[in-house]
Amino acid sequence: MELIRTEISDVSADVKRITGFVRYNDGNIDEYWYEYPSHFEISDTGNPWLAALLPMAATINEDLIISLPLDQRLIDGAENILRFWNAYDVGTSIISIIPSGGVCVLDNSPKDSAAFFSSGVDAFYTAYNKPRAKYQILIHGFDLSIDKRAEFERHLTRISKISKQMGKELVSVRTNIRQTQWKKTRWQVVSHGAALASIGLLFEKYFREIFIPSSLKNFRDTYCWGSHPVTDPLFSTSKSNIITDGDGLSRYEKVQFISNHQLALDNLHVCIRGRDGSGQDEINCSHCEKCYRTMIALDLIGVLEKAKLFDLSKYNYDEISMIFPSNESTTGNYEKFIKIAEEKNRPEIANNIRKCIKRSKLINLLSPLDKVPLLWRIPYKMMNNSID
Ligand SMILES: [Zn+2]
Repeated sequence: MELIRTEISDVSADVKRITGFVRYNDGNIDEYWYEYPSHFEISDTGNPWLAALLPMAATINEDLIISLPLDQRLIDGAENILRFWNAYDVGTSIISIIPSGGVCVLDNSPKDSAAFFSSGVDAFYTAYNKPRAKYQILIHGFDLSIDKRAEFERHLTRISKISKQMGKELVSVRTNIRQTQWKKTRWQVVSHGAALASIGLLFEKYFREIFIPSSLKNFRDTYCWGSHPVTDPLFSTSKSNIITDGDGLSRYEKVQFISNHQLALDNLHVCIRGRDGSGQDEINCSHCEKCYRTMIALDLIGVLEKAKLFDLSKYNYDEISMIFPSNESTTGNYEKFIKIAEEKNRPEIANNIRKCIKRSKLINLLSPLDKVPLLWRIPYKMMNNSID
């Protein structure tokens, strides 16, 4: 596959669009675009495009030709990323990167720092942990489809207010990447870090550091994940460093850190459901696994009542036993909660989390039955009653 060329056009007085024309080996062409505030002079190298297209090329097993100049450090890093994905057997191939536009290093030196921001726990942690990141990047087109404009406008209004109060400059970016053939890539396991890096590198003329709030809670967890402390920094160029922030801290530790800031507690938004089902409104549903996981941490720290976007009437200890942590890493958070609840003499939390872990193990054990006639109802019913 090949990035043939890019083109910049005006969307409105304040917004421009850069489109990359990508041809696959079967001759089909996709237009990948990003919209960004027009006062930025966007990258004219192939760097953001190499980051964006790497997981796609690896997924469909096509060599990647980039017709714009590329940074050598990024090319070297991308080759390592391919081997990392390959080692985890996540459906990618080791392909060749062909810099048909040559190799270059930017003339100017970017000076500023930026961090991705969504108002969740990881994002607030990085916002306070890296105060030098004076730009915050918000993306439309990742979790929320680009068709949902009204929902995103609400989200943007809310986030803009928070950014302003924190003294940051918000950079809103909209992209159709997940609506192109690129959607064949495995978002969670392989490609979301590459998509973040591509957006950071669009601003390579400005950002010396681009912080990605880390989702790795424990350095002993060994699994492939789209945004990972091994692979994300490999998307760096000679002038722009991609850095994960907050690696190895549990959710409890991050919540504890941000609980010193009332602004974070006032605006903490972790839910992907919310009232509107998309999680882009101003409220946490307070009844999904992620909401409960956060509310338990806030409760153990003693600040749950100060977290204004949670509905405390939906939080009760018996319900904790019905939570279904979906993977090992999430379960690890709950195991940590048991330890803390015991230290803080909160048996009502510790005991119910024990029940939740036991029940989740049983559901996992019974899940093969969902294909057996008559017996399928057992795991189905248990799952249906769960908080997930
Ligand atoms: Zn929720």
